[in-house]
Amino acid sequence: MLDAAIEWGPKLLNRECDEIPTSAGIDAHLTDEIMQAARRRFYRPEYIACPGCGRTMYRLEETFEEVKRRTSHLRGMVIAVMGCIVNGPGEMADADWGYVGEGGGRVSIYHKGEPVLKHVPDSEAIDKLLELIDTSLDV
Ligand code: SF4
Repeated sequence: MLDAAIEWGPKLLNRECDEIPTSAGIDAHLTDEIMQAARRRFYRPEYIACPGCGRTMYRLEETFEEVKRRTSHLRGMVIAVMGCIVNGPGEMADADWGYVGEGGGRVSIYHKGEPVLKHVPDSEAIDKLLELIDTSLDV
């Protein structure tokens, strides 16, 4: 895996090639992962999450797993789950959508770096995020 990433990652990033040829003998899943990591072809959503720290006031890992489970079909979308409103928005600046803990059982939902819903109870926040994503896909 490392050999393949070291060999093909720089070529893709430097745009010396557009694909990993099948003649390279790298299995299809690893090819997809390297293409996605180089942001040259997306075969699944891209996720951003912070590790959580003393500022995190909700179950970040559990929430992140549920968001991943419910958005796994959204190929190419960048979705962030961040622990706090202090640093979260800056650290997920290039995400399409963001779930950001405010503290006090509330969540802000971001779209393209801007808050679109604030103070959502955390019990409703994943559903709201999914509703907003669905609505944006219908437009
Ligand atoms: S985004 Fe907030 S909660 Fe997450 S690691 Fe950074 S400071 Fe901590």
